[in-house]
Order: sequence, then structure tokens, then C-alpha cells
Amino acid sequence: MKIVTIIGARPQFIKAAVVSKAFKEHNINEVLVHTGQHFDQNMSQIFFEEMGIPAPNYNLHIHGLSHGAMTGQMLEKTEEILLKEKPDFVLVYGDTNSTLAGALAAVKIHIPVIHIEAGLRSYNMQMPEEVNRILTDRISSILFCPTDTAVANLQSEGYDKINAKIVNSGDVMEDSATFFNEVAKTRSNILNQLGLKTNSYILATIHRAENTDNPDKLLGIFNALEKINKDIPVILPLHPRTANILKQKGIQTDIQIIEPVGYLDMTILTSNASMILTDSGGLQKEAFFFNRFCITLREETEWVELVDNGYNFLAGSDTEKIIQAFQNIKNREFIKKHNFYGGGKASENIANYLVKNI
Ligand code: UDP
Repeated sequence: MKIVTIIGARPQFIKAAVVSKAFKEHNINEVLVHTGQHFDQNMSQIFFEEMGIPAPNYNLHIHGLSHGAMTGQMLEKTEEILLKEKPDFVLVYGDTNSTLAGALAAVKIHIPVIHIEAGLRSYNMQMPEEVNRILTDRISSILFCPTDTAVANLQSEGYDKINAKIVNSGDVMEDSATFFNEVAKTRSNILNQLGLKTNSYILATIHRAENTDNPDKLLGIFNALEKINKDIPVILPLHPRTANILKQKGIQTDIQIIEPVGYLDMTILTSNASMILTDSGGLQKEAFFFNRFCITLREETEWVELVDNGYNFLAGSDTEKIIQAFQNIKNREFIKKHNFYGGGKASENIANYLVKNI
């Protein structure tokens, strides 16, 4: 079986690291295409090196463009590769422009699409990610869902009547987080480098367009981080998109800003933080995997099971709401009573399913 896998952004590198390994173990022939969406050292190169992701067979070098131009160029260049490679399947992850472009290029020339992280919904069509994931799900033939909620979302949209296979594989992020955290324990020196101790700092990330593209929201979040920082120091590995906006808008801050870090360092920073404040999808779950509360800097989340069960708190960008959530959980003990994401076997489940059923 030959699969062409399309990756281009940080969360996709993290997922591909474990899935590509499982494919290799099951003798699945994988051709990797890196669209180039994330290209700088700390958001691409370092991931390939430290996570042992095979070097991509193709790099399209497409980045820094508007949504339409980026998706269009990816579509065109991916089609050329697919016509040459003639794979049995195209595999895409998550919800980025690379995901949609890869799926669309494949389905138009009748190559079936596998979507990992299918069925997630925020029900906010203003998010580019929501548009990408809905369209990708609809044109995919095999939908590997990370949770029961994701399966239920597809069922409620009538996917039972569509000729697609829906499989609850578990979440490949859990595989990555647990596997690479074990590796990181012996390799990462980030706590020493930053002079941090377990449970003595808060880890924050901000990169989602709905926050970075709205100065009021960005200011609301930074005001909250500043106030929280006076109580517990806040560390923020800064996404280049957010860094640009802060510079443009002249927003200054007292919190400790660092460059984006590789995934090994990131798992150490997450698993030792007092709590997480983020608008990232992946990090909300990683907080849960590492028994940390999370305050989500968005109005809604795809990972509703975490909110419904009191592990994650939606605060949006409202300064008071964020501080309120922080005060509420500051002294609370994290007790994990659920296992929503499959226990770290998703990549094995996916490879097994493909080998046995296709
Ligand atoms: N991450 C990382 N280094 C950083 C910031 C984030 O490795 O400096 C990881 C984080 O742990 C999570 C993933 O990147 O696994 C999330 O990526 P991102 O926030 O870009 O996207 P999202 O999850 O929102 O799709």
C-alpha cells in the first residue's frame, strides 16, 4: 500500500512523527510531502530532527501567502506530485490549509483521502480551521476520529448515509505527547535553561487568528497575562504570527517571552507548569495528558469533553474572565477521572486498520 502524506504545520509534524513510525512498522510505503506552510527553524526543522520524522520526499516551499493564494498553490503543486506518485491513498491531518489542499487535490483525481483528526467541530465558521476540517471530512473516504464526540458530530451531520468509513482510532496527539515526554525527560534541559521549577510558572501560547487579528482581543489577553504574572510568572513561547502583530501594534509586556521551542522542550514545559493558558487546540489536550488545568483563550473548543468535565475552562479574551478562571483553579487539585483519547494507541490502531481492512 502506498500513501502520500501531506504535512505543513507544527501540529502535523507532531502527529506524523508517531504515525509514520507505525506505518514503517507495518510496511506501509509512505511518501511525505511538506508544503512549507511552517518553515522557520523553530517551527519546522527542529521537529524533523529531534522527533525522527523521515526527511520529506517533496518540499513545496509555500508560505507567507493569503489563504487563497496559499491553498491554490498547494493544490496545484500537490496535484502534480499525485499524478506522478499514483498512491493508493492521500493522508491529511487536522485542519490547516495544507489539509484542505491535499484532500482536494486527491479527490479531484479520484484518489481516496484518509483524514486523521476527523469529526472535530467548533461550530464557528469564522475560523479558517473549521472551514478546512468540514470540507476535508466531507471529501474523505476514511475518517479516523480522535474521540467519541468527533464520531457523534459526524453522525449528526448524516455521515452514516455517506459512503465513508468512520473509525474511532483515539487521538494521535496522546501517542506523541506520552512518547516524546519520556524521551524529553532524559534529553531536555529547558527548565534549567529558563531557571524554572515544577509548578512554579504558567505556560501560555497565543497564535490563533481570531485573537491575533483582533487588537482588542489580543490586548484583553495580554492584560490578563500581565496581572497573573504578578502572582505566578508566565512563560510564553511566541508564535511568529503573534510576534509580528505585537510589534506592529506596539504592545509591550512584562511576561517572559521566548522563541517557539521544539516538541521535546514543550512537553517538559507543559508537564511541569502550574497550569496552561492557550488558544491552541493541541495544547489543551496536552495539559490534560500531563494532569494540568487549562484555561482556553477562545469562546469555544473542539475538545468539549475537557470543558464538560471540569479540566478546561473557556475564558475567551475577556481580561476579567481569564483572571476569574485563574483564581478559581489556582489552588485546586487536578484529579483525572477520564480517558477520552484512547490511551496512546491511536497510531497503532490506524496502521492496523489500514493493513487489515484495505
Ligand atoms: N508547541 C511546540 N512548541 C511551541 C509551541 C507549541 O512544540 O513553542 C506544540 C504544542 O505542544 C502542541 C502544538 O505545538 O502540541 C500545537 O500547535 P499549534 O498551537 O501551532 O496548533 P494547534 O494545536 O492549535 O492546531
